[in-house]
Amino acid sequence: MSENLLSSLNKSQQDAAQHIDGPLLILAGAGSGKTKTITTRLAFLISIGIDPKSILTLTFTNKAANEMRERAYSLLNSEELNTPPLLCTFHKFGLLFLKFHISELDRKNNFIIIDSDDKRRVLKSINKDIPSALLSSEISKYKNSIMSPIEVKAQAQGKLYTEIADIYALYEEHLLKNNLVDFDDLLLLPYKILKNNEKLAKDISKKYQYIMVDEYQDTNELQYRLLRLLCTSHNNLCVVGDDDQSIYGWRGATIKNILNFNEHFDEATIVKLEENYRSTDTILNHANALIEHNRDRLGKKLVGTKDKGSSVKVYESNDENDESRKIVEDIKSLLASGEHAKDIAILFRVNALSRSLEEGFNKAGLNYKLVGGMKFYERTEIKDLIAYFRILTNLSDNFSIKRVINKPKRGIGATTIDKLEEKANELNISIFDLIQDSTPDELSAVVGKKNSRTLKVFEASILDLREIMNESRMRLLDSFEDTFDYRASYDNLPDGFERQANIDEFYGYIRDYFIQNPHLDLKDFLNEIALESQNDEYTNESISMMSIHASKGLEFKHLFIIGLEEGFFPIIGDGTDIEEERRLGYVALTRAMDNLTLSFVHSRFYKGKRTQLNKSRFLVESGLVKGSLVIEKQSGFKKGDMVNHKIFGQGRVEKAVNAGKDYKLTINFGGQKREILSSFVEKV
Ligand code: ATP
Ligand code: MG
Repeated sequence: MSENLLSSLNKSQQDAAQHIDGPLLILAGAGSGKTKTITTRLAFLISIGIDPKSILTLTFTNKAANEMRERAYSLLNSEELNTPPLLCTFHKFGLLFLKFHISELDRKNNFIIIDSDDKRRVLKSINKDIPSALLSSEISKYKNSIMSPIEVKAQAQGKLYTEIADIYALYEEHLLKNNLVDFDDLLLLPYKILKNNEKLAKDISKKYQYIMVDEYQDTNELQYRLLRLLCTSHNNLCVVGDDDQSIYGWRGATIKNILNFNEHFDEATIVKLEENYRSTDTILNHANALIEHNRDRLGKKLVGTKDKGSSVKVYESNDENDESRKIVEDIKSLLASGEHAKDIAILFRVNALSRSLEEGFNKAGLNYKLVGGMKFYERTEIKDLIAYFRILTNLSDNFSIKRVINKPKRGIGATTIDKLEEKANELNISIFDLIQDSTPDELSAVVGKKNSRTLKVFEASILDLREIMNESRMRLLDSFEDTFDYRASYDNLPDGFERQANIDEFYGYIRDYFIQNPHLDLKDFLNEIALESQNDEYTNESISMMSIHASKGLEFKHLFIIGLEEGFFPIIGDGTDIEEERRLGYVALTRAMDNLTLSFVHSRFYKGKRTQLNKSRFLVESGLVKGSLVIEKQSGFKKGDMVNHKIFGQGRVEKAVNAGKDYKLTINFGGQKREILSSFVEKV
């Protein structure tokens, strides 16, 4: 049985899958069969008689968990699966644990999990001034660093952070009082419980004798500590990962967990897998060329096992419509030639880019699903804007008024909205009519003086904008922003970049619509997009669109990656970590099995205006586009420059490529070529 089971693995994979006791790290590049190896190991352990209930396998997404379960179960017979092993996400494991053990914290197990929207609502009810997105992400950081409100307060710097520490304390009180847990608690509370109860930690770790973790490069400090406690009575922890695919640094994941595995767990066996079974040689070579530009990496070997394959295509388009048209055409011919929709995917770095694709797909009648993300018109900020525009075209749209009457925040709470609605219903008029027809005093009688004043200002703003809209459609968007500062309300928020990119994309799209349809107005536009977004019945046979983050661990026969322009991929901003951007590039390219197409455009909507863009440095670095001209200019070195090196003397630059913060130069020193970082030479 087990022979058979291992037969589809190569020698190193077999060694890893047959490893039974002691810590094991499988460190290998993309598509080398890491996930295949641990799912086979899971089946192997069961096949040699290890109790399935004593094996715990952890992953990051439900999709990954489901795929691993399918793969592992297909290797076993039904008898062996009488008691299936636990294979789930970290968070699911935390939830199951808390169901049994939350009483350790003197809490009842009828707790309710709050999602990120609920969390923000709770935070808003505690504090109205600090944006809830900021509060939410700060508190999440604290929890993942295992810091209590008291500890946070003790080291808080400045007024804002002291205040956030206080809000954190109140937030925790609120959760406790109402027996709520947030996502971070699903990891933090089990950690606390196990940390404070050695006996329980021993018992649990005896229960799960064998623990496996996929995508270990994306674990954070808290997950690492939790794993340690789960290994209190043994050290049978098997983790797999790839330092080059670490893409959650911004969420506190730390590559140190992989780098220090050896020190964390004594006598760890380390297995390296060096063959890639997923991608054609051509695809692999470009991916390898790209990631070589990172300095901060372990450096692994990864060779192909497949044919050379067809060359990677690069599409150059004028704008996003042109880009979407080309991709739609390609996909149509793939489908016509008998390819399956489920084998086709499109990836992007910035979610806003899905808008033009969705439009193209809808027009062509192609089914698509947005994996792990929301369709463009379902995103909060876009729904808000649509609500505003609906109000402008129809003052009695109560639903839309209720949605945006306090967006951006102007102090109108839920109770006020209820009162307004009740009164309007009583008089059988719309909410806007109520505000408009009432005198300030009459309105004060319903909602109080302060709210009455705010609502009157809101009314005047809407009426002004309606006039502007009727005079000049093109001025509308600027005036709208001048009046409400909607876009600016996302300034400096943790998820502000993505949201503002969506807003910009939407404004740009509306402006274009007005230019192309001089006789149509905002109402026509709204009707058109209502029809467009309605047109999407769900079917299994659909093409996947997703962010690169959501594509981790997946593979597709035909892959398109769009938006390869500086500013969109890599994203360039204050907090940009160019090496993490490049790892995202590596993850993206290595999702492709047979066919890969990358696309860049000359112009897209950037900050609401059509903007000329430069193609991404990643196209050059991966060897897809010739001429490292842009990069050479940045490095200050170009082909032909004479340089001086302390040891090697004078030489001539033959090539300059970006390497992290530095530049890697290929220099010819009197016939001998060497690769040297630019900081080690001087121009002569
Ligand atoms: P990633 O880093 O992207 O998560 P991975 O290392 O987990 O990749 P897998 O998804 O396990 O790689 O495997 C990639 C592909 O290669 C899969 O289609 C898998 O079935 C195939 N594969 C893995 N090992 C072998 C092998 N020894 N022989 C044939 N195919 C293999
Ligand atoms: Mg994998």
